[in-house]
Amino acid sequence: MATKPKVGLVFFPAFDWAIAADHPEREERLLYTRDQLREEGLLDLPAIKEFRPGIATRQDIERVHICVPSVEAVCTESHLIAAGGTITAGDLVFSGKTERAFALLRPPGHHAMRIVHGSRGFCTINIEAVMIEYLRKLRNGRFRVAVVDTDAHHADGTQDIYYNDPDVLHISIHQDGRTLYPGTGFLNELGGPAAYGLTLNVPLPPGSGDAELLYVVEQLVLPVLHDYQPDLIINAAGQDNHFTDPLTSMNITAQGYARLTELLAPDLVVLEGGYSIEGALPYVNVGIILALAGLDYTGVREPELPRGVEKAGPVDETVVKKVAFLQEVWAKRKEIDLAAIFGRGDYFRRQRRLYYDTDDIYEFQDEEIKICSSCSGYRKIYSLAEDDRRKPVRIAAVLLPWHACATCEQEAAAAFDRLAAEPALDYVYFQNPAAGQQPLVSRAVRREREN
Ligand SMILES: [Zn+2]
Ligand SMILES: [Zn+2]
Repeated sequence: MATKPKVGLVFFPAFDWAIAADHPEREERLLYTRDQLREEGLLDLPAIKEFRPGIATRQDIERVHICVPSVEAVCTESHLIAAGGTITAGDLVFSGKTERAFALLRPPGHHAMRIVHGSRGFCTINIEAVMIEYLRKLRNGRFRVAVVDTDAHHADGTQDIYYNDPDVLHISIHQDGRTLYPGTGFLNELGGPAAYGLTLNVPLPPGSGDAELLYVVEQLVLPVLHDYQPDLIINAAGQDNHFTDPLTSMNITAQGYARLTELLAPDLVVLEGGYSIEGALPYVNVGIILALAGLDYTGVREPELPRGVEKAGPVDETVVKKVAFLQEVWAKRKEIDLAAIFGRGDYFRRQRRLYYDTDDIYEFQDEEIKICSSCSGYRKIYSLAEDDRRKPVRIAAVLLPWHACATCEQEAAAAFDRLAAEPALDYVYFQNPAAGQQPLVSRAVRREREN
């Protein structure tokens, strides 16, 4: 009898899609990896099996995003396959077809936030979040997930989506935002009133290597995961922290990455960034796949590995201090006086300016979260953005959380009705992840402004 494969691979290089012909986020990112897997004979091993990616539906996207004006307007077929292929990988593990899975797809997703006016940091659709919400829906919301994002860039999109969600723990380990896009992901970003301490950011100084990364995993990530006990562990596996990456200043090696995979033991790995197409991706991905399959990865070595890059320590002192700070936050997260942080009112309000660097769009957001003792609270978001024709677009969205209480449901419905009557808004959306067959995003077009 054939044994079930340990690792399912879902590939999608998006041959005919690119931001620009010479852009670093291009199809060769995956083609060299594929060649390397063939050369190493990995695809012939019974432990590893390849699967074809599915295509995400509009409903899959709308469980996560408010796309302005619509899913069709911001998504290409490549975005739908990257998200759909990530769902395929999630399904493999969820259904028990494979023990673990690795989605090697593009375009990536972790900079895509809840509201989508366009593309930020090469991302339009948050592929991890689309997969998480798909699986959550299958379990009627009774599903807890941990996302450990190790891309060199702060996972600001995933953080935004799960910022106030008590059932998703989000840990991002990245190059310090003072030195790299998107300029966020600091120690004090710890989550919203219903999920305080469930967003953890570990900014690493430029030049950090395997010693720092593995220290954070062993001292912080593993104990936190042990406490949180998620149903699923996802590694958002950006490989732009590699010592050869042209966009960043980190020193991670393929051996360091494979060891991280072994320690973390993720159910799912999803490729995010990584722009060292020949020098890093083929080796890092082979290391990850071997580690996922429980095979020996110690022979994986980059051809240009400089002496000393793989040093074992000592760990940078500032990293040790940051880990100690976050260990304490985690240990005391349930005793914290939330009113001191979020105020004593019925709502917590935050205002932000966001920039979509890929599409050159500016957005202003004003968000209110209901502070509710019976659920994680409904949210109201106003967003004003300049679209590609430099015309302002004003929208509002009302978001219900999973397991919303009856009071929040009623208040959210009333808020939507009020907003839908505001003449200054172009679109008004209502998002309810628990909704059955009804449209997940209701749209009220307020204006068909001439020309
Ligand atoms: Zn990145
Ligand atoms: Zn409530």
